[in-house]
Formats: sequence, C-alpha cells, structure tokens
Amino acid sequence: MVDIEHFPIFDAHTHFSQAYLEQGMQSYAQCGVKAGAVIYHDRDLPDFMRLMGKQRLKKWSVIYWPNWVEFGWRPDEFVKTLCADMKRYDKLGVRGLKVWKDLGMYMIHPDGKPARMDDKRFEPVWETAAKLGWWVYVHQADPTRVWKTRTGLTRDEIYARRDKVLGAWKEIAWVLCHNANDIESVKKFAALLDRFPHVISDFNRDYTEHDTLADTQAFLEKYADRVLFGPDAGMPDHRPPDFKWNWEECYLPWRRKLVSWGLSDATFRKITWENGQRLFLNGR
Ligand SMILES: [Zn+2]
Repeated sequence: MVDIEHFPIFDAHTHFSQAYLEQGMQSYAQCGVKAGAVIYHDRDLPDFMRLMGKQRLKKWSVIYWPNWVEFGWRPDEFVKTLCADMKRYDKLGVRGLKVWKDLGMYMIHPDGKPARMDDKRFEPVWETAAKLGWWVYVHQADPTRVWKTRTGLTRDEIYARRDKVLGAWKEIAWVLCHNANDIESVKKFAALLDRFPHVISDFNRDYTEHDTLADTQAFLEKYADRVLFGPDAGMPDHRPPDFKWNWEECYLPWRRKLVSWGLSDATFRKITWENGQRLFLNGR
C-alpha cells in the first residue's frame, strides 16, 4: 500500500530559477521531491549553475532551453552560438538541451516558411548534443483542445518532422515532454516507443482523459522503464513558491492521481523515482 503523502518523487520536468531558490528547494524537499531535472530558460545560466553548485544541489540535472526564435531571424549565427554555448555550459555541469514549439508551431522565417525541427541547418546542434552525451528534451505540440499555431503546420506534420530527426540521431537520448508531446493515445504512444527504442518521455497529462484506465495501466506496466513523472510545475507569478503552493497546486493532487491509477508497486516506483535515479543520477 503506497503512502500517498510520502513516496519519493524524481521530478523529470520542472522549472525554477535563481529567485527564491533556497525556499523553493526546501518546499520541494517537503513535498518529497528528492531529485529531478530543471529546464532553465534565462541567459544567466552560468550564474544559476554557480548558485546550484554553491547550494550543493547535485541531484538536479539542468537542461538548457535557448531562445529558438532567434533561429528564425539569424539561422546560421544562432546555430553557431548555440553549439558554442552548449560546449561551454557542459563544462559548468549542464546536462541537456530543450527544443521548443518555436520550431513548428510559432516561428516563421522572413521568406514565409515555418521554422522546422528537421531543418538541415540544425545538424551541428544534434551532433554537439550527441558528442556531449546530453539529454535532448523535445516539446513540439500542444493538446488538441488548445491547438493554435502561427505556421499552419498540422500536429501530424510537426510529429513527422520531429520523428525524422529522432530516427536520424539514434545516439541521442531524447526525452519527449508531456506524454510524447500530447500524443493523446496510449496506442500511438506505444507505437512511437516501439519505433524509437532510444526515446523516453516525461508525463504530466492524465492518460485517462483520452484512454480507459485499463489501457492506461497496460501501457504504463509495459513501458514502465521509459516514462518518468514530470509535472511541469513553474514558478507562481503572484507569490513566492513555498511548500503550501507547491503542495496544493501540484504535488498533492498529482500524488493522489498517480496512486488512483492502481499500478503495480514495481511500475509505480519506476515512474515516480527509480527511472530518474537510474538514468539521471548515476549513483549521485
Ligand atoms: Zn516545461
């Protein structure tokens, strides 16, 4: 029987910054979040890494999220700068890169064509990620209920372009954010994981919104080694993040939901803690 309030969590997808870092980390610890991966978007990444080091937050892997919009305006300079930054940040302890919806959903080049993940000009970026052994987190689509793009590309087109890159770069450890980028079907999710054995996914959507509980259970039991809980908690914009906020807005409702799915103990432990420990912590 799982103790809802106390099982340990590896949070594979979250966001926090230098602001309130000490307070935020304290509240994560109180919420039972003992390690994880933080996706960091600001230009002051070196300062953030220094602060993380100072506070000895060794159980957190930092994933760099660059401003992909710049690729739309100055593609060659963007790629050159990004590769140089990745090498520099690797020395500071950064462990991964995040690809975002600017590619596919939002950014349009001056010639009117959409910026796409399978643009050949990104080859040096994938090559650098592979050489550094970085995780590459990919978030390429929104749920259908809020689907809105500026580029006119459909979800299927965006997935197909993403999949071309996944297929071409098998040496990269890919993490498809939010249930394989809101694939909204455990059957399609399973097919994707079968097609790309080098891909894992973090999840923060309730599978039972689009599939039955029985299908959800069967999916999670079968792919228990390849999905990690990552609720995508951000920083609140109306107050500092503290235990009350993190607990009530994110971790307690999720703890209840995870337990309600009725998974086997082994699968439950893998998706909430052990996969993260095995893949990201390496004994740390
Ligand atoms: Zn996120």
